[in-house]
Amino acid sequence: MNNERKIAYFSMEIGIAEAMPTYSGGLGVLAGDTILAGADMKIPMVAVSLLHRKGYFFQKLAEDGSQIEEPVAWSVDDFMEEMPPRVSVTIENRTVHVRCWKYEAQGGSGYVVPVYFLDTDLEENAPEDRELTHFLYGRDKKYRLCQEIVLGISGVRMLRALGYDEIDRFHMNEGHASLLTLELLDEQLRGRDGQTISGEDVSAVRQRCVFTTHTPVAAGHDQFSMDLVHQVLGPHEAFSLENVFCCGDTLNLTYLALNLSHYVNGVAKKHGEVSRTMFEGYQIDAITNGVHATRWTSESFQELFDVYIPGWREDNFSLRYALSVPLDEAWEAHQQNKRRLLQFVNRQTNLGMDVDTLTLGFARRATSYKRADLIFSDADRLRQLCGKAGKIQLIFAGKAHKNDEDGKNLIRRIFSASRELAPDFLIAYLANYDMELGRLMTAGVDVWLNTPQPPMEASGTSGMKAALNGVPSLSILDGWWIEGCIEGITGWAIGNNHRQADAPPDRAADARSLYEKLERVIHVYYQTPVQFRKVMLSSIALNGSFFNTQRMMQQYVMKAYFE
Ligand SMILES: *Cc1c(COP(=O)(O)O)cnc(C)c1O
Repeated sequence: MNNERKIAYFSMEIGIAEAMPTYSGGLGVLAGDTILAGADMKIPMVAVSLLHRKGYFFQKLAEDGSQIEEPVAWSVDDFMEEMPPRVSVTIENRTVHVRCWKYEAQGGSGYVVPVYFLDTDLEENAPEDRELTHFLYGRDKKYRLCQEIVLGISGVRMLRALGYDEIDRFHMNEGHASLLTLELLDEQLRGRDGQTISGEDVSAVRQRCVFTTHTPVAAGHDQFSMDLVHQVLGPHEAFSLENVFCCGDTLNLTYLALNLSHYVNGVAKKHGEVSRTMFEGYQIDAITNGVHATRWTSESFQELFDVYIPGWREDNFSLRYALSVPLDEAWEAHQQNKRRLLQFVNRQTNLGMDVDTLTLGFARRATSYKRADLIFSDADRLRQLCGKAGKIQLIFAGKAHKNDEDGKNLIRRIFSASRELAPDFLIAYLANYDMELGRLMTAGVDVWLNTPQPPMEASGTSGMKAALNGVPSLSILDGWWIEGCIEGITGWAIGNNHRQADAPPDRAADARSLYEKLERVIHVYYQTPVQFRKVMLSSIALNGSFFNTQRMMQQYVMKAYFE
């Protein structure tokens, strides 16, 4: 029935509709952008994720910047249709029944990629099992393992129950989904009672799997003790396979995916290199991430592109012609976005930010290595240079993971820095960063700031959203920016491109470099406005035309899907 679909894309989180809280951040937003590009390009794919009935969390911020987390309330059936099939999976010897909800992701020409959200909240399940698909990245390790069983194993079963019998490629977006390989191995065995898994079975599964790894941060790679795995999953033929379940008494889902995929990639050139060092002996390619161009381009720039670059929606490469957009019209489109953002900020914070002041934006997960507070390393220096070169104001946003105390402290530090630096600097921290706020911020600030600790930023995507809206980046050379930065043309680089990959972190040096470059940016913005506007258009022409999911999906098609 559904035999024309050849690719199944599995992701623990998918941010596809703005009002569906089924994502936490970059990984989920990328998954949504990937699916939308697949629909635009009529790629015969389906996608699978978990429902996350209580979302990730709704973030509130107290006076001192302390984060308060609340479950997100949302109505699943306002967005999706319940599908008839039921499948089940065994967890701790209990049968867990699973249903799914369908979201239809529509491409530019109307082609639909169905996205199935798995849901265990069924009356026939034990109370604890009903909650397995409630919280994204919630609770403890065992909860995570159970979720990954639901995603990987029942996900494949659900696709079969829905009639998808001829999937040629299973794409694991991060290791969370890699238990799907166990179900594929089981499918190989079915009908051959009592036989063990052979080398050919493993090869057959490997030929059908694709794995994208997303982070050089160790905590991003799930590992479970084999004791827990046995307790939760029971025995499995595959556990005795050498070179598939390596690593003795732990199950590492990244290695499982590496061992059972015929194509593996990191998400930027540099991240490919870093991953090859992390996982020696594996062939790891790189496909640099992108963002979905029409989703992340603001209305004012969409209108400009429609006039000056007709066809850009179908062919994102043609954004290369952005240099033909008149500078003053691009500026006006930008000022419109900036006014809209600042009105929002002022309503939320009563800070009275004004549209003529150079405005920097910084929004990403609040976690140590992203170093949101690098710009506050030396408050005197910051005061001095802005006194000399010109005023700036800053807008921050981002959630800290529930268990990330360092990340939570980081938010508090930005709150206290903003008190210290008032009234010379207006600094806002907006609560509950989500896609809608992301759209507003990446289009509405003048310069997008990014200061991670290299080489921890696998790719980063929000700077790409900014580029589509003519907002240049001022960023540490890491992730995608190594490829996207042409100094003074598409933005500005912080730090040293020639640093050794294993060089120790040097926060003080990075801060010094940030201040030097910031002084330069302030100068360009206030003293040479025409130059600044040219940088805006170059960032669209050179980066918007390339760092989009249309180009990215073409690379997956060439290298991974139909190979
Ligand atoms: C784009 C986006 C992210 C990811 O941003 P990075 O720059 O990759 O860290 C996270 N959260 C939201 C809401 C986004 O829109």
